[in-house]
Amino acid sequence: MNNKDKKIKVAFPHMGTIYVAWEKVLNAVGVEAYIPPYTSKKTLSIGTKNSPEAICIPYKLILGNFIEAIENGVDYVSMIASPGICRLGEYGRNIAQVLVDLGYKTNYVELNLYDGFNGMIEYLKKISTHKNYFKLLGAVYLGVRTVFAVDELQNFLSYHRAREVHKGDSEKAFNKAIRYIRDAKNSRELSRALKKGLSEISNVEIDKNKNVLHVDLTGEIYIVNDEFSNQNIERELGAMGVQVRRSLTVSSFLKDAIIPKMFKKGETHLERAYRLAKPYLMRDIGGDALECISDVLYAKERNVDGLIHVSPFTCMPEIMSQNIFPKMREDVNLPILSLIMDEQTGRAGYITRLEAFVDLMRRKKMKAKNTQVSVKQ
Ligand code: SF4
Repeated sequence: MNNKDKKIKVAFPHMGTIYVAWEKVLNAVGVEAYIPPYTSKKTLSIGTKNSPEAICIPYKLILGNFIEAIENGVDYVSMIASPGICRLGEYGRNIAQVLVDLGYKTNYVELNLYDGFNGMIEYLKKISTHKNYFKLLGAVYLGVRTVFAVDELQNFLSYHRAREVHKGDSEKAFNKAIRYIRDAKNSRELSRALKKGLSEISNVEIDKNKNVLHVDLTGEIYIVNDEFSNQNIERELGAMGVQVRRSLTVSSFLKDAIIPKMFKKGETHLERAYRLAKPYLMRDIGGDALECISDVLYAKERNVDGLIHVSPFTCMPEIMSQNIFPKMREDVNLPILSLIMDEQTGRAGYITRLEAFVDLMRRKKMKAKNTQVSVKQ
């Protein structure tokens, strides 16, 4: 291949299934999307070795993803930045400096999502040879639609996984659906792929009459959406007959961060957070703390059976929410389980805590079975 025909190779860190959207955007602007090996214990160990000890775990995993990608010859590593109140605002600069200190020559480029669509266009201009505004806008649109499609599939998976007759069937169908989405080249193909994916999952044999529990999953957005760092909590709960609804999704984040008001339907997650969280938290204190506090009240409003809060060890905003939860537990009478994720990936103790929580919710539900209140989906 002629050198000038060689495509620029760009890598981005993992966070659950977000690679599906990144890949689509980058490929649509003529860039080769490089997907680093999915986050593993090796990634964590590389990241930890090169990070300050007390930094939160998403930083360590992102750095680990970057180093693994660079070792595989990418031209750019790239990530989302935000001017947030917590340490996220410092991530980019630190990571770029660490990579230089380690002697890597790879370019580092970041995307500030809070600059909206124009920020995304400017970011794409830096890595792509395509400079046509409409072409770039089309790529962003396709990426955003992909995020919404994947979240819809994820939700559908959760419903089926809690009721499946043969363990693992729903996840197999979901993985097939993700392949359909990845193969879609444009918006029309994406719509078809989503339809095909949903039908793939709905073909899974389920027990519709199973008495499932409903749990909302909230916390720091990276941990909520990344199965490596939350130890695949949704799979574990699904196997115990629990349908999980993620309160914080990438699509809900995009609605707040980049989608113009005129294209939004109803109240966004952040708008709801400001409305509901007030009696307990008056303002945004960084990260996702405001949303987490409001998610407790929203879960209660919808009469779910419990709420699980997951956060990284040393995450400052989530330490604040954990300190507000005891008072909320008393006020709203809702089972809340707070799990702090760190570098220790031991499974046995983790599963025991989940089982005890599920048991508590079941007993509470049994007691209240005569009240006949149903969960609003
Ligand atoms: S929200 Fe928490 S985990 Fe995320 S960057 Fe901020 S301090 Fe770290």
